[in-house]
Amino acid sequence: MARVTSTAHNPAELLHRLRARVPAADSPITHVEQIPARTGKTAPWPSWASPEVITALAAHGIAQPWQHQATAASLAAAGTHVVVATGTASGKSLAYQLPVLSTLLGDPRATALYLSPTKALAADQLRAVTKLGLDGVRPATYDGDTSREEREWIRQHSRLVLTNPDMLHHGMLPGHARWGTFLRRLRYVVIDECHAYRGVFGSHVSHVLRRLRRLAARYGGSPTFVLASATSGDPADAASRLIGLPVTAVTEDASPRGATTFALWEPPLLPPEEPDLPPVRRSALSETSDLLTDAVVAGTRTLAFIRSRRGAEVVATMTRRSLDEVVPGLGDRVAAYRAGYLKEDRRHIERSLLSGELLALASTNALELGVDLVGLDAVLICGYPGTRASLWQQAGRAGRDGGEALAVLIARDDPLDTYLVHHPSALFGRPVEMTVLDPANPYVLGPQLCCAASEAPLTSSDLQLFGEAALPAVEGLTASGALRKRPSGWYWTHPGRPDVDLRGAGGAPVSVVESSTGRLLGTIDQTSSHVMLHTGAVYLHQGVTYVVDNLDLDDAIALVHHEEPDWSTHARDVTDVSVLGIRSHVDAGPVGLFLGDVEVTSQVVSYQRRRIATGEVIDTRPLDLPVRELRTVAVWFTVSPQALDRAGVEPPDVPGALHAAEHAAIGLLPLMATCDRWDIGGLSTANHMDTEAPTVFVYDGHPGGAGFAERAYAVAEAWLSATMEAIGACACEAGCPACVQSPKCGNGNNPLHKPGAVQVLRTVLAALATA
Ligand SMILES: [Zn+2]
Ligand SMILES: [Zn+2]
Repeated sequence: MARVTSTAHNPAELLHRLRARVPAADSPITHVEQIPARTGKTAPWPSWASPEVITALAAHGIAQPWQHQATAASLAAAGTHVVVATGTASGKSLAYQLPVLSTLLGDPRATALYLSPTKALAADQLRAVTKLGLDGVRPATYDGDTSREEREWIRQHSRLVLTNPDMLHHGMLPGHARWGTFLRRLRYVVIDECHAYRGVFGSHVSHVLRRLRRLAARYGGSPTFVLASATSGDPADAASRLIGLPVTAVTEDASPRGATTFALWEPPLLPPEEPDLPPVRRSALSETSDLLTDAVVAGTRTLAFIRSRRGAEVVATMTRRSLDEVVPGLGDRVAAYRAGYLKEDRRHIERSLLSGELLALASTNALELGVDLVGLDAVLICGYPGTRASLWQQAGRAGRDGGEALAVLIARDDPLDTYLVHHPSALFGRPVEMTVLDPANPYVLGPQLCCAASEAPLTSSDLQLFGEAALPAVEGLTASGALRKRPSGWYWTHPGRPDVDLRGAGGAPVSVVESSTGRLLGTIDQTSSHVMLHTGAVYLHQGVTYVVDNLDLDDAIALVHHEEPDWSTHARDVTDVSVLGIRSHVDAGPVGLFLGDVEVTSQVVSYQRRRIATGEVIDTRPLDLPVRELRTVAVWFTVSPQALDRAGVEPPDVPGALHAAEHAAIGLLPLMATCDRWDIGGLSTANHMDTEAPTVFVYDGHPGGAGFAERAYAVAEAWLSATMEAIGACACEAGCPACVQSPKCGNGNNPLHKPGAVQVLRTVLAALATA
């Protein structure tokens, strides 16, 4: 193991070092927020708590609960559904461990179910409960890695089953007969990290939980729900929509916290390659890699969060390389981490970081969800993670034993990131955004009702559980032959079970296989596979570069070979939108604002190869991938050509002005709802055949919608004015990735007209203000 010569565990010192790399005048730091330390407030152990549990917890260093833990635990023990929504490392686990374990010890037959969004988190919880050494609880994880023999044992003997919504959906609920005893005795359902259940996935999970409640009731069980959430806007309401029952929220965080220094960092502009070219901003990935290198050299245990799996691999590789230049072998102390790695790889990385063998990790948000890593000094966040909830979750990883911590948000070339590093008030001292999910989405509700019917016929009274839209949905399913109506209810009479994917991604994940060895490198969902694994794509795994030889969608397999090309690949697609119906609209004279149903057709048609060093386009190659059709919900606005003319947008500039406004509007929407720009799509046109006017569409990228467009419509004025401000505030002349260019544009960011976009938005906002 290479030695580190100096140490800088003090984050303020590290920030000072990082800052020292650049002259003060060009400081990339746009803002430093000092988040003060907080002293903790304890509470006595509740009188109902099992002495045995209290003794076990005390033996592991918990002398007394924090106030919020005691409050939430007592509510749950009294049978009130409760959500505890406090910061990272505030000890949310104890809030459910205390009532659950006390009940399991007090009643030797009682059972409990724990759900987490990731296997890693469930494994972590299993370790935590196991080490308490409580007799008779027999906790066990039940997931895709559990062998057949173990499953049988768990069903018979475990009283605390730790699993995930997918396993509940695919395994436990369809096989409920074998779980009858467990369900009858089910006293608690714990839903950890419940803010992860948003959008289409969240809508599906909300129905999986209703199916669980229905089946438990059939066997005589009536569990209390205990939910844990990151701090989130209105957690009681969000939790209540998720489980379909009233929920009480505990939000006052009484745990102590060390001071955090939070810096906002905008990578510097680089001098142009040639005199007449515009300056470009240094990439956030290179910047993060440099900061990570400095942190490791300083001996600071640091975690870098990178949004894409590719990015995480790139940062790990760059950091390893530059560290090896400083001290040969030092690079070995940095690794990449992301979802999709095989279990053994993940465990090895987690152990090495805990032991200190690894000093730094470049991770996707696979780590964001709860994995209990302690002893980190600093967190680098490469690119805004999409929500303030995620930002705080990631930043909260830093700070050992209440010591000082450093968090740095490094802006990517993206309108939202640029807006945020220059508007710190949009981040600090504000509540986090609402978790958006829509259980009434027909593309979720219909399939979920089929699943429920296949588990046990649906009765009229069951339908109340699934919401107001359930009756018309069941009637529709009956008319189409999916369900059959009999006097005793609605039946699923087809062979096999309904094929329903909770992530709405459609189809099995694509396996990435190395041709020469047959080795499985990892998996990627079908939808992303068109963009990431098309034939010819450059694909990175653990810092090793592969090129895709062939993507076979029928067999869901991508064959790759190892190669280190000096170019990267960028997929292109073409998209069309047609209006199916209008749900709501605002008539503002020359401007119209609409919410409605649309059909989007899109196809990945080609990809560009670009030189990694310069970004220069080498060539564009065609692809032969199928068209994908999407029925979804969109928000759109129209502006009359006359109004655009009056605003000074010349007719030839109209397409570019609308296109630029569309890109920036998509970039800013995540400020308003818990989506990210990859959850939504857009289309702009100077004359759309359905609206017969210049139009900008922004749509949910998931069948049936996920609530994002609806939210955008509801807050349209705030959303579009932030968009206008973001474009206007960008220092570039003709548009850049920080304002109106989009990394996912199917037209290669052409045409774009930045000043025109501001005029379009000003016209729309002026008209809406008078409507
Ligand atoms: Zn710009
Ligand atoms: Zn575009």
